[in-house]
Amino acid sequence: MNKTDRDARSAFASLTSSHDEPATAGLVPCALIYGGSCLAVRAATLALGCVPWPSFAARLAAEAAAAVLLVDLVSGILHLVLDYCDPGPALRSLVARSKDAVHRTRGSDARYRAAGPWQQLVWNFQSHHAAPFPEHDDQLRELSLLVTPLLACTALQYAAGWLAPAAARVWAGLLALGYGVQASHFWAHQRVHLGAASLPPLVARLQDARLLLHPDVHRKHHQTFDTNFCIFNGWANPLLNALFRLAVRRGWVDRSCVLQVPPEVSPEVSPPDEQRERSVGHAKGG
Ligand SMILES: [Zn+2]
Ligand SMILES: [Zn+2]
Repeated sequence: MNKTDRDARSAFASLTSSHDEPATAGLVPCALIYGGSCLAVRAATLALGCVPWPSFAARLAAEAAAAVLLVDLVSGILHLVLDYCDPGPALRSLVARSKDAVHRTRGSDARYRAAGPWQQLVWNFQSHHAAPFPEHDDQLRELSLLVTPLLACTALQYAAGWLAPAAARVWAGLLALGYGVQASHFWAHQRVHLGAASLPPLVARLQDARLLLHPDVHRKHHQTFDTNFCIFNGWANPLLNALFRLAVRRGWVDRSCVLQVPPEVSPEVSPPDEQRERSVGHAKGG
């Protein structure tokens, strides 16, 4: 495998390329994601602490439900912030419409290779809008790089007595579920592109029960890119959609500085799997 091929495999390949991006380029977005997530967990643990639970088991069940809601909310905060970061003037109009096109761009496009690592990361993230399926990289590995150190930090904070047991349980639950966020997201896309029958039956049932992300919920995001940012199961969408509308009203969001996906590129408006199965049935029946 030559160097170009290797570079095309990873969204984080050219950390050493020459560019004039400041080292602090991602600082504010990362602070927003981390700060917003910490605030949400703090609010949830405070609220849980105010309830007179009839038993410890009831409290544990509530904490587990809170962890599910919070992982969805955190996934939405991360998604929203990265969707509205600027990949830079050179990459804003660079639309790749397939996984192969994304990999070719990483490997050989001069504009991509001249961009800084933060702009490249933002471009790779936003490229999902024009090329939603299949996933461009090993998402479990990339999420592990983020989640595992945070899980270790949580354990250390608890062991040092800096984190209350209830907060530690909620953080641990949230982070453990964090490993599955992109799996749930791409199962929703898989159902649109390959049909429900391509999924493990339990996954399709959990999607129908809205315990995992259902394509009907996520499709709305891919039609307008400005709603339904949450990608674990969508429970936190109403809250985050309201916050996003507030941010738009206040002028905190600049839609002109993101990857510009042309309106005709709307790959997720393909028929739902039920219609798809019907059309396959018709084709087979002649
Ligand atoms: Zn998005
Ligand atoms: Zn998606």
